[in-house]
Amino acid sequence: MTIRCEIVSQDRLVYEDDVDIVVLPGEDGEMGILPHHAPLLSTLRLGVIKVRKGGEETIFTVTGGLVEVQPDIVTILADAAENVEEIDIARAEEARKRVQEMMEGARKGEDLDTYLALEAALRRSNLRLDVAQRFRSARGRVNRSTEEPGESR
Ligand code: ATP
Repeated sequence: MTIRCEIVSQDRLVYEDDVDIVVLPGEDGEMGILPHHAPLLSTLRLGVIKVRKGGEETIFTVTGGLVEVQPDIVTILADAAENVEEIDIARAEEARKRVQEMMEGARKGEDLDTYLALEAALRRSNLRLDVAQRFRSARGRVNRSTEEPGESR
């Protein structure tokens, strides 16, 4: 028995398949959604979505959004979501560096909105980097290690 899983971000369909279980960062903590789950609507926190199908697990980052569960379908409307294999590490590193530099210039009391937006951007880039490091396939890790300075070729 399976449940349909659709992950949609603002600009694209990120994933759709019939799966065994979806584990999400719900508002009240990690939620596991199995087929025939009771209907529910929840906001999503920044974190990781795990989708299992036939013994294989696929990992996505999600920066927030909404989930709607019906007994036969889980619909995730994500602010942004990426399959771990799609994460552009260089882009996330650049984003983190840019944000850290801007945070040094922005003082919390002066412009709170700017500071909070920078904090959120820092959380997104840290999430992408952490998740890529923890969950990338062996091939992804080999590709990455060849890019590191001082690495023998
Ligand atoms: P950046 O400053 O690099 O744009 P951001 O955190 O502001 O990062 P978001 O607004 O969260 O980016 O996402 C915008 C779009 O870009 C989304 O579709 C998201 O999936 C994609 N995206 C952002 N960063 C990455 C990344 N490092 N690798 C792959 N896709 C990314």
